Amino acid sequence: MERVILVVEDESGIADTVQYALETESFRTSWVNNGHDALKELAQKPINLVILDIGLPDINGFELLKSIRKQSDVPVIFLSARNEEIDRIVGLEIGADDYVSKPFSPRELVARVKAVLKRTGSVPDKPPATGFELDKEKATIRFQGQALDLTRAEYSLLSTLLDQPGRVFERAQLIAQIWNHNHPSDERVIDTHIKEIRAKIRKIDTNADPIKTHRGIGYSLNA
Ligand code: CA
Repeated sequence: MERVILVVEDESGIADTVQYALETESFRTSWVNNGHDALKELAQKPINLVILDIGLPDINGFELLKSIRKQSDVPVIFLSARNEEIDRIVGLEIGADDYVSKPFSPRELVARVKAVLKRTGSVPDKPPATGFELDKEKATIRFQGQALDLTRAEYSLLSTLLDQPGRVFERAQLIAQIWNHNHPSDERVIDTHIKEIRAKIRKIDTNADPIKTHRGIGYSLNA
């Protein structure tokens, strides 16, 4: 069975080395250079193990692991550059499965990956089942196997919610996401689009109600 390793590392040279070492051992790899994209990948793809750099541009690896643990038990190996970081990994129960300190030998890292997978079992952590399938290349979304006939704004809105199931988005965040800077000033436009999307979903399944309203805040997608 093919195993997928997510590499979260902002230095492309290191990411390259890690990916090459893993792919030589017939792992599949996926690379992101920041924490935000790491959470997205984990929400969308089955990932067997995460290699996580601690010094990332948008969020520190320890904080990122806390967010990962809210949605997944995927095994995590930290890449650490400093001794203080290692003290923290060793001293605290932060839910990592192992760590490798930089500079490291790729062979050593691959050995750690194999050991952790063996210990934890290699069943991939499935993305949350939402009933939706998002095809970003074709800009289409299917629900329970059937294509939703969405306008551009509806597609953009629903795909934003789908990127991070369970996350509550404020109306202002959704507006910024859909229209960038030329956005309408009335936040109720989001409510109108959500109403349309819900109606289209109900045409496929009358009982389905996957979008949750958070009064006074915004919306989230049920994970
Ligand atoms: Ca780094």
